Parts: sequence; C-alpha cells; structure tokens
Amino acid sequence: MRNKELEQTLALIKPDALKNSLTGYVLSQLSEFHTGLIYAGAKVVHVTRMLAEVHYEEHLDKVFYPSLIEYITGHVHYAEKPHRQRVIAIVYQGPDAVKRVRDVSGPTNPHTAREQKPGCIRSLGTIVTLKDDTGKEIGERMDNLIHASATDDEAEREIKLWFKPNEIPPSMRAYSTLRSEELYYFKDEKLLAKFEPGSVCVVAPGDVMWKSDLEALRLIQKGEEASCSLRTVVAKYLLNEGTEGH
Ligand code: ADP
Ligand code: MG
Repeated sequence: MRNKELEQTLALIKPDALKNSLTGYVLSQLSEFHTGLIYAGAKVVHVTRMLAEVHYEEHLDKVFYPSLIEYITGHVHYAEKPHRQRVIAIVYQGPDAVKRVRDVSGPTNPHTAREQKPGCIRSLGTIVTLKDDTGKEIGERMDNLIHASATDDEAEREIKLWFKPNEIPPSMRAYSTLRSEELYYFKDEKLLAKFEPGSVCVVAPGDVMWKSDLEALRLIQKGEEASCSLRTVVAKYLLNEGTEGH
C-alpha cells in the first residue's frame, strides 16, 4: 500500500463480542479519537460456511479449525438462534491501519493478552477447552472477540473477500476495480454463464467488481488457473441471501 492515507484493514466483531454486549466497547476502542482511523465500510453479516472456510483457509490443518468455523459462523454462541448468528465487518482506513487495529486488539490468546497487554480488547476474551467424544482434551478454542488483518496483503485479501466495491465509497476504495461486461452465475461450486434454477447471479453487465476478482472469473470460465479460487470471489455475493447450504 503506497498511499499511507489509503491504508485499510478488516476488523470483524466476532459472535462472542455480540453475545456479551461488547460491540460498543470494541467500536469505542477503535474510534477515530483513539486510533485516528476512519470507517470505509461496515455491515452485519450472517457468516456462511463458505465465507468462514475461505477466510480461515490458512488454518485448515489445525486441530482447532472445526471449532473456529463453528465459532465464526455463530453456531457456538447462538446455537439455538440462527437469526442472531452474525458478525459486524468493518473496513478501517488511515495511516498504519493494520498495525493500529492489531495493537488495540492485542495478542491472539486472551490469557497472553491479559498478561502482556492488559486493557487490550482481547484481554476480555476467554479460552474454552475442546474435548473429543470420549471426553479427552484435544485442544482449545480461543474466543477473542475480534479479528484484525495481520498484514497489508492479508488486509487486501480479506477486504476483497468480505466487501463488494460498491459497499465502500468510490473515493475510499484502496484496490483497483473494473466494470463488468459479463454475466456470471454460481451454483453447486460451479461458475455458469447462463441462469439455471437454483443459481445465484454473481455479476451482471455494468456491475463494478474488484479487478482481481473479474480477472479470476474470466480465467476460471476458460478453465485456466486463477490467482484465487472461485469460492474466494463468490462468497461475498452469497451473503445474506437466505440460501443455506453454501
Ligand atoms: P489472529 O486472529 O491473531 O490473526 P490466527 O490467525 O493465528 O490469529 O488465528 C485465527 C483465530 O483462530 C484466532 O483469532 C483464534 O480465534 C483462533 N486460534 C488461533 N490459534 C489458536 C490456537 N492455538 N488454539 C485455538 N484457537 C486458536
Ligand atoms: Mg490471523
């Protein structure tokens, strides 16, 4: 990110923060007064399994991965209340956005956070022991209230994963966009050029897309290797659709 004023990062207020009524606290800790950062985008998201899996794909092999997916999709904290399974996704913008939000968030592990950085957001988190069917301890789940992108590259990947360009004001978009001339649908993990019953329209002619997303779709359509997976591009278009199973 060459223009420091345009540096952006993704923050997610996770389901444990919503459940414990810490939303206002987190927003206040990240306010312009405290961090010097401004809002570039914000929305309430019912996190689909697809979005959760793409977001946390780097942790696929970890023992805590299944519980992490259950946690971020809201199934842990709102098991009986699907309508409350949400996170709040926010794009913050300004000088050192990535570092500032990471600093205010604190260490990943809430115990470490309490020891090393009392007062950081994650110092209010908790750790839950995970057991297998026989009751044997197999690991832990870290309920740490907030996600924050760790690097500029991660921020770019995550902002493009969670937000469509038109959810961010044009003058605040940090990454290149293109206006699509194509029509694409998605169904059963496949990209389609024509509507089929049960498919979802991903992009229509005239829509503004992240340039890297549109280039990826063009390659995937031709059966060629793209810079990111089809799921990475389409996950945000299936949010709040009300169609489970994605
Ligand atoms: P961060 O959120 O600080 O970037 P990671 O990317 O390493 O941390 O992990 C993503 C999320 O996975 C963490 O926020 C936490 O909820 C969970 N997590 C990370 N490491 C562990 C672990 N060793 N045991 C259980 N959960 C973990
Ligand atoms: Mg991380």
